[in-house]
Amino acid sequence: MTLINVNLETFIRTTINQKHNVIERHKWGTKTPVANKLVKDWNFDSIVLHHSGNDGKTDPVEIEQYHMTKKGWDDVGYHYLIHSNGTIYEGRKIFHKGSHVAGANTGKIGILLMGDFDEQWWDVDDNLSKTHLAATNRLIATIKSQFPHSIRKLGGHKEYLPNKGYSCPGNQVMDKINEMRKKHGLSKP
Ligand SMILES: [Zn+2]
Repeated sequence: MTLINVNLETFIRTTINQKHNVIERHKWGTKTPVANKLVKDWNFDSIVLHHSGNDGKTDPVEIEQYHMTKKGWDDVGYHYLIHSNGTIYEGRKIFHKGSHVAGANTGKIGILLMGDFDEQWWDVDDNLSKTHLAATNRLIATIKSQFPHSIRKLGGHKEYLPNKGYSCPGNQVMDKINEMRKKHGLSKP
């Protein structure tokens, strides 16, 4: 059992949100998270990147509907959702354990790059833009600076569950991930 300083977690959440003009959950969401069912998490060691996948969702409300109405979760699964225009939406508050790496969510901050970044012949894909990547890198740098002694790893969703055959966060993000790890001094999961 880890003791969590409530003031510190609120301070860090606010610091990250203000630095990146993150649109807070209550400002864009249409549903209220079931806060009393969410579990605290804090000693993060990993930042995990995702994409929306083949449905290519770029509207956070659609993702909220999918997670909370269709899947019946208590909140959006990711901690941050980044639009290709660089806008960052807050998902689950950072001090609540995410729901984005099945069975292994503890200690992992989940960032969603909204869009479909897996190039497949059977569907229309998005192109990972410089703006999108830059916003992601800036957010990673800030998160790492807030958890300098714990965060060591940066990976794509598929790297955390290598036997599942997942493609998330898509080949376009995976093509950049080694460069990103080097930039932030983080290692592969
Ligand atoms: Zn994913």
